[in-house]
Amino acid sequence: MNRRQFLASICSIAVAGTVSALPNVWQYGSLLLSPPKKGGVAITLDDKNVDEWYSIRPLLNKYDAKATFFVSNLKKLTNDEVAKLLELRNEGHEIGVHGLEHLSVEEFLKTGGTVEEYVDREIKPAIDFMTKKGFKPNSFAYPGGSNTPASDEAILPLFSGPLRDTAYTEPDKRAKSLNKVYFDWDNPSKLIYGLGIDENYGNTIDELKDGLRRAFDERKVLVLYAHKPTEEPGKYHLPLHKLEVILQTTKDLGLTFYRASDLR
Ligand SMILES: [Zn+2]
Repeated sequence: MNRRQFLASICSIAVAGTVSALPNVWQYGSLLLSPPKKGGVAITLDDKNVDEWYSIRPLLNKYDAKATFFVSNLKKLTNDEVAKLLELRNEGHEIGVHGLEHLSVEEFLKTGGTVEEYVDREIKPAIDFMTKKGFKPNSFAYPGGSNTPASDEAILPLFSGPLRDTAYTEPDKRAKSLNKVYFDWDNPSKLIYGLGIDENYGNTIDELKDGLRRAFDERKVLVLYAHKPTEEPGKYHLPLHKLEVILQTTKDLGLTFYRASDLR
């Protein structure tokens, strides 16, 4: 579209009196220089549940879904687990850092450590370890969902992508109204917050569908996090049928699956 066509489109919309369409015109105008950023979902999975992550590949592939796997306890990874993570990475998923030993920064500071010591012990060796194994980690998820402004400042420069923290629903603030978990392309933050979708977080399938609809309506990205995808009952388990509803709803709404480091 050239400038004349663009101005003509504004005029035609103004004439039609479709005032509500104007924000889209301005978005489109600003997007003449860059492709549009669509609403979507970022599914992130934490810890070291490599076999279960690997086992959901057919389910993810069925919906062309990409996910981010934040790996911790790196020295306990077997060669087989590293090979599976590399295969996930090669298929387009993201492998991020979740700490060398899964130490919480807030707990570490309480025992008298400094942020610098935390980074030297928990983050830098994790990046080195993953780099040696053939990964190039771009994003980080805080172990235990704990962070401080000082830790954000120290860790952000180590990654090109965002730092992921966690946020929690309350009886009067459910998934749809928990603003923190919606990444906003118009006001991008390098600190993103995931909404828990494991069994124990109590966010129902219907509430998650409402959240995905908000992401669609507002052209934002709903950030989700879980641990072990499996039908076996467990507090930190993500039931597979729940995951599939999220994948199906994302597809039905025409939303995009984003990896953590896409959010920037
Ligand atoms: Zn964790």
